[in-house]
Amino acid sequence: MMQRHLQGIGMTSQRTRDRMIKRLIEQGITDERVLNVMRTTPRHIFMDEALASRAYEDTALPIGYNQTISQPYIVAKMTELLLENRESLGNVLEIGTGCGYQTAILAQVVGDVYSVERILPLQKKAKTHTELLKLKNIRYTHSDGGWGWADYAPYEGILVAAAPNEVPEALLEQLAIGGVMIIPVGEQDGDQILQRITRTESHFQIEELEPVIFVPFLAGKE
Ligand code: SAH
Repeated sequence: MMQRHLQGIGMTSQRTRDRMIKRLIEQGITDERVLNVMRTTPRHIFMDEALASRAYEDTALPIGYNQTISQPYIVAKMTELLLENRESLGNVLEIGTGCGYQTAILAQVVGDVYSVERILPLQKKAKTHTELLKLKNIRYTHSDGGWGWADYAPYEGILVAAAPNEVPEALLEQLAIGGVMIIPVGEQDGDQILQRITRTESHFQIEELEPVIFVPFLAGKE
């Protein structure tokens, strides 16, 4: 029974996942590591039963608490940008766990994932989802990601799934030299742009990549 739930049937089947991968390739995703894990990871188990049949559509869908699961293209793109020109990444800090789908993808392509979420019930759900997939290299904390997660810093990668107006200082501080951060920056309902920030010995190099739409990066925790 559980096996069937994980594998999916009909609109949640492997065939549907294969179609999603075909679309990602058409949209310009090329990293085989990313395509492979997205092909095999059941996205439907991260959402409520009622929305499971829409899990593989290229859209953001509600996950409760006014939040959304990021669309497949954005998950693929951010992961690909994080890994670009690298054979591997050790520890990665994720801000905005949400339902845990991006977390699960990351956990299969990097060493260890440290994931921060400010809404406790979402963090709990995410944990259930990634346990179902038997992913062991993930640690969660319920906190305001504006503080980063100092205990395991510095990070070789940081991926942020909510948009602040400015990049939080703590995240810059917790990025390792040579490390890379992928973060949407900009006003809510305004222009948000996906940035890649690479830390060198002497400075932070910023690349502005593409316009995006993310939920706001909020202070405090609930
Ligand atoms: N990758 C997630 C995205 C969820 S939406 C997914 O696909 O499910 C973004 C998430 O960021 C929300 O769950 C929201 O609660 C969280 N968030 C927003 N601001 C935050 C902050 N300062 N610290 C931690 N999490 C934050």
